[in-house]
Order: sequence, then C-alpha cells, then structure tokens
Amino acid sequence: MASSDFDRPRSILDARGIPMLARTERIGLVGAYGASRSFLERSGARRAASDWWYIERKPAVDLVALDRFLPRLAKRSLVPELVDLIPETSWCASLANMLTSSSWRVLRDVTIARAVSCQDCGAATRLECHETWTYDISSGLQRLMGMMALCSDCHETRHLGYATVRNRFDVAFRRLVTINRIGSAEEADYRRAIHDKYELRSQIDWTLDLSVLAGRKLDLKPAFVEVAPNLLMGKGRRGSIEVALAGVSVVRGAAASRGLMLS
Ligand SMILES: [Zn+2]
Ligand SMILES: [Zn+2]
Repeated sequence: MASSDFDRPRSILDARGIPMLARTERIGLVGAYGASRSFLERSGARRAASDWWYIERKPAVDLVALDRFLPRLAKRSLVPELVDLIPETSWCASLANMLTSSSWRVLRDVTIARAVSCQDCGAATRLECHETWTYDISSGLQRLMGMMALCSDCHETRHLGYATVRNRFDVAFRRLVTINRIGSAEEADYRRAIHDKYELRSQIDWTLDLSVLAGRKLDLKPAFVEVAPNLLMGKGRRGSIEVALAGVSVVRGAAASRGLMLS
C-alpha cells in the first residue's frame, strides 16, 4: 500500500461506531463552552458539570451539528494523522523542559481550561498539555503552532520514543491506530511513515520559532543561559542541550528570579 493512502479521509462508519478507548461510555466535547446551551441540548449533548458537555458512546445525537466540538475519535470524518515525533536533535528543547514550572503552568492551564476534554478521545480526567510544532526542512525552522489538551494516554501516542523507553510502545501505538482508523493491514506502513519522517527530521539542527509567544513574559529555568544571541545552553534528560531561538527575544528576568525570560 502506498503511504499516500493515509491522505484519504476515513468515515466513522468505516470504523463501525465510535471506538471504545476510555473507561466510561461518555465522550466529552471539546471547547463546547463557546456554543449556546440550547444548541447543545437540541443536538443531543448532555451536561455533567458546569462546563463539561458529553455525548454517549452509542449516541442518539446529531454528530453533524456537533462535529466541531467532537474529539478526534468521534469525528464523522478524519484524515489519519502521521504524528510528529520530536526529532532526536530537538529532544528536551520543549517549553515544558525550558520554562520554570510557574511559567509553564500558565500556558498549560489555559489550554486545558479551554478544551475541558481530551482533544483526541474526549476523556475529562488526567489532562495534560502537548506542544504542537511544524517542521520546515528548507529553512530549518521548527515552529510552535500552539498547545493541545490530551489525556495522559493520548499524550503518550505523540511521544512514542518516550513510550518505548517506558515499555509502553505497544499500548500507545494500539491507541494511535484506533484513533486514526488505521486497519491492521496498514499498521506496518503507518508506523514506517511516522518513523521515516522522524528519521529525516533528526538529521537537522532545528531553530525553534516561538513567534506565537512573542510579547509574553515567560521565565526560563535557571539552568538555561544565553551563550550567543538567541542561543541557549541548558539541561536535557541526557545532558546539556543547545537551543537556537527565533521569533522571541531573550531578556534578563526580574531581579528576584535572576534568570532569563522569553519575551
Ligand atoms: Zn485522550
Ligand atoms: Zn507532548
């Protein structure tokens, strides 16, 4: 099978109903606070907590009307995602690793509060914040696009290398193929396509483009120092790392913190 087959949208009907991944029969809607209550009720959604709207797994609901609020798992149609594994050359060059816990928490809490449910499976608990990046091979820019709220099980599918280290690859990959409606005959090709993209990108020393955060004041951990303009040196899981930045300035933080800030 050609890898381009993964460009083809897959209907929920192909997957014979909404797959079972969560512990409950309830699938949370994503960001439904933006919709009117009467619209949600009319479309068949229900409300459990003040801002947590959900549908039942075997829904007598209008999936068409609710589509933009459905987590990926329940969408009527989706194009499989060839997940972007972090290239080896960018391991630990993440906001989660570079920012102080209080600065990271600001970004994380807003993301989770907006989504309310996991954007992949609709779970309402154990939500985490995942950074989404795009990679432009010609410019060497790895650009931060935003953040998404994922439950810890779905988050693991975006970090398959880390799942492997923790002996969790099979569990995470099983979840990934289920969410993306990949048939068993396609699994090997799907896995290869993800891996090939990762290998190619791991040949490049990426510059992180953080322009989406320009103007925010975010503290870097004290372990990160600026060794040249917009070039940081700091700590990763396996020793020191160098991180080149674009789209933001590195400035001296408030006197009390003595650290650096992204601005
Ligand atoms: Zn999830
Ligand atoms: Zn992540």
